[in-house]
Parts: sequence; C-alpha cells; structure tokens
Amino acid sequence: MDLQGCLEKLQYVGVLNFATVDEDGAPQIRNISAIHYEKDGLYFFTARGKDFCKQLLRDGRVQILGYTKYKEMIRLSGKAYPVEDDLQEKWIDTIFEEQPYLANVYPNDTRKIGIVFAIKDAAVEYFHLGVHPIFRETYSMGNIEKPLKGYHITEKCIGCGTCKKHCPQGCIQEGKPFLIQQEHCLHCGSCLEHCPMQAVVARGE
Ligand code: SF4
Ligand code: SF4
Repeated sequence: MDLQGCLEKLQYVGVLNFATVDEDGAPQIRNISAIHYEKDGLYFFTARGKDFCKQLLRDGRVQILGYTKYKEMIRLSGKAYPVEDDLQEKWIDTIFEEQPYLANVYPNDTRKIGIVFAIKDAAVEYFHLGVHPIFRETYSMGNIEKPLKGYHITEKCIGCGTCKKHCPQGCIQEGKPFLIQQEHCLHCGSCLEHCPMQAVVARGE
C-alpha cells in the first residue's frame, strides 16, 4: 500500500464521510461524493450557503473517512481551502462531468452557487482489519508531518513478557527492550495497562 493506493481506494469507495467542527466545537459529519482526484490531492464541491462551506472557510480542518468491503479503513486528515477564483469554474465543470447526478441537483447555471475546495496537505492513515495480523500505515500527502499514534516500549522494560501475553495481535517482539511492531498494532492499549513497569508509553509523548 502507498499514498496513491489509498487515494484510489477512496475513489473506489466513492461516497465518503467528511467531518468538520462547527463554531461551538461540535462535530459535524456528512456524506460527499462530488470529489475529483488528482495525484497531488483531491477537490470537492459544495454550495456556498451550506454550513459545511462556512465551517471549512472558518477553520479548514477536515477529516475524511472511507471503508472498503475488504475491511480497509482509509482516513485522511488535512486542511481544505477554496481553489483560486479563476479556477473555480474549471473544477466545478470537471466534477460535474465525472458525477452526472450533480446536474439534477444543480441544473443549468444553478451550479454557480457551488464552491470547490482542495486538500493537498494531509496525513492519510490506512488500516486493514481484514488480514491477520492487522496492517496499518500512515502516509504523508503534501507538506505535512505524519502524526505519531499508538505506543512504544521504553528502556524501563525488564523483559517479563506480560505485554506479549496480552497483545491481541501478537505484535510484540522479545528484545531489550521488547518491541512493538507498529505496522500490526491495534493501538488497543492492552500492553500499557498490563505492564508492571510502566514501560509502555504513548508515541509522541
Ligand atoms: S510488560 Fe512491560 S516490562 Fe514486561 S516485557 Fe512488556 S514492556 Fe517489558
Ligand atoms: S497496543 Fe494492543 S495491539 Fe498494540 S502492541 Fe499493545 S497490546 Fe498489542
């Protein structure tokens, strides 16, 4: 799997969940399929009067989630911005060509109430629950650092093996210290809760 593979899978899923936060900090989520994919990012259409648009203009942070029938989750966390004014028409027409149903929703010139946003900087997480052990990886799109999630084992480890016994994915290797195979880790926290030495800590802390 790689970044392009993730974007292709999102395209294959088609209808994606887009989450934003409103002015009170409350989560807001909706389905969006008016999306166009390019190698360096994705473009999507909404209408200027929608709360979705207002939330994006105010904050820009957006999280997109797709889930395939093979139990693959792909989550994109990034920042959306409206494309340049002189390119709006081009991208609106591109999206309407790819998604003919939009012409029923916004017939003729009514599409001009639309606005196209782009996301070019994002972290893209791939999480495959349909294989054993599970597989996960995070990719960086554009200019963004990959977030560190999950846990790692520090030098406090005394090698007792308790964490390995309680790991549902069997993804802890023996060693000095023991080692979590990050690509197979669920981030469930069982190792952290069972370690007698508090040797397991959150990554990024
Ligand atoms: S439970 Fe803690 S001390 Fe024991 S092997 Fe695991 S990390 Fe090391
Ligand atoms: S977080 Fe869960 S899956 Fe990951 S190493 Fe710890 S026990 Fe295993």
